[in-house]
Amino acid sequence: MRKKIVAGNWKMNKTIEEALALVSEVANMVKDEVSTDVQVVVAPPALYLSTLQKYTEAVPNLGVSAQNCHQKASGAYTGEVSAAMLKSIAVEYVILGHSERRQYFGETNEQLAEKVNIALENGLTPIFCCGESLEQRNGGNFLEFVSSQLTESLFHLSPEDFAKVVIAYEPIWAIGTGLTASSEQAQEMHAHLRKHLAAKYGQEAADNTSILYGGSCNEKNAPELFACPDVDGGLIGGASLKSREFVNIAKSF
Ligand code: 13P
Repeated sequence: MRKKIVAGNWKMNKTIEEALALVSEVANMVKDEVSTDVQVVVAPPALYLSTLQKYTEAVPNLGVSAQNCHQKASGAYTGEVSAAMLKSIAVEYVILGHSERRQYFGETNEQLAEKVNIALENGLTPIFCCGESLEQRNGGNFLEFVSSQLTESLFHLSPEDFAKVVIAYEPIWAIGTGLTASSEQAQEMHAHLRKHLAAKYGQEAADNTSILYGGSCNEKNAPELFACPDVDGGLIGGASLKSREFVNIAKSF
């Protein structure tokens, strides 16, 4: 059975003092309030990962994620962080292919396939992001566009490796805009992606894949989104920067 997951992508926010306050509040609330069948994940800036782990380690269903890793194993890539480095400090997850990485840092499906490979080689769980722009949605072929992102970056994986991947559908037009996909729009895409996965890896593998929704998800709209049969949780941006709201979202199943 697939996991319910709520992950908070902090993006480039918070000083260390603010990050410590946020993670300790989240850890306490998750321990006391969130069902253990919901996996909660926080993705702070890489700089803080090992410091914040002291708080997350104390809570069995709370983990940490990086927001990115480099596609090469090591070497002369100034400023970058490798999957092996993340593994060496016991990070469990890595967000890959966020639309901000694709848009501002030119990440391509091909490069993301390499990132997925190196993450898996190092035992990290990739949270692989996909999603269409507003022009693509209005143009009508958005379902095919998003499934092709999965084909190009994931479909080279063996069934064993594919089973370790989490998918996050984040329509670009809904990120940071306050415009959430309706539950019908989210369900339509998630069902489409699951069908696409089933055609490649079989129905059982598709049914076991967690597909998260991201894009202006908050404590008000999370219950309706998470009630959709193919929505298995959320990748939360802005609302993950507030402990009470983020934990309320994790309680929305
Ligand atoms: P918002 O929740 O701020 O729209 O961001 C979503 C996101 O990009 C999470 O990765």
